[in-house]
Amino acid sequence: MTFISIREVAPRDGLQNEDPIPADGKVELIDALSGTGVRRIEAVSFVHPKAIPQMADADEVWSRITRNPDVRYSALIPNTRGAQRALAAGLREIEVVVSASDTHNRRNLNRTTDDSLDDIAGLIPLVHAAGATLEVIVATSFGCPFEGDIAPTRVAEIVARVRADGADRIAFGDTTGMATPRRVRDLLSEVRPDLLHFHDTRGTGLANIVTALELGIVEFDASAGGLGGCPYAPGASGNVATEEVVHMLHDMGYDTGIDLDRLIATAELAERLVGRRLTSGVLRAGPRTRLV
Ligand code: ZN
Repeated sequence: MTFISIREVAPRDGLQNEDPIPADGKVELIDALSGTGVRRIEAVSFVHPKAIPQMADADEVWSRITRNPDVRYSALIPNTRGAQRALAAGLREIEVVVSASDTHNRRNLNRTTDDSLDDIAGLIPLVHAAGATLEVIVATSFGCPFEGDIAPTRVAEIVARVRADGADRIAFGDTTGMATPRRVRDLLSEVRPDLLHFHDTRGTGLANIVTALELGIVEFDASAGGLGGCPYAPGASGNVATEEVVHMLHDMGYDTGIDLDRLIATAELAERLVGRRLTSGVLRAGPRTRLV
């Protein structure tokens, strides 16, 4: 059975796009996720507390969770200072974002894409010297809310640059849910990532994952309950929901190592923590195996 590696991003990507919740809730969510069988969790983000107040307690959350030896935890960082904090806290899997769209990169990170690429080149030796790995997430890979279409050749250029600079892993982010199966095929025929990060903002999340599976991709991000909205479309859904992905993959004969019932219970916890109804279909309807 083919193993599909799911990285659970609800504690970071999910909660970063929700109203802030207390550290206690974050610790509870991460610990519940690490009991579902998921092998990778994007746990925290070491960003400036003024920039993203939702992640201001990253050090506290990271120090209070119960580390599961079977789980690889990672952190997102915006810059050298963030990397230093993550490495000092003991994280060994670090992620950094650069946007394929210059406009999105300026809005998000206040500098051009090329300036971000220079920063990343400087970051890689620092991360490697600590025995850690750096994953570069290329945001807006499938389209940009400001610029529209992004040429696959532009994404390929960025990947070539960061690989030459020593990046360990590459992820493509569909930051605002613009991907469709056709766009997935077009981009992946030009350049391949290690991992894909889809949003379900426009209902194409699972279709995109199936297309990527057919093209041989075996690593995906997903967020319990679909936690996390779309920063540019208030009320719209964000990340693909982990329980929808796992429910589909298991029925297709793939292994994820995840216990679906425990995962659904964790998505229910996420829903209670953020105090709003989440839109995940499997959370709402239950799994196909739950007979009436
Ligand atoms: Zn996301």
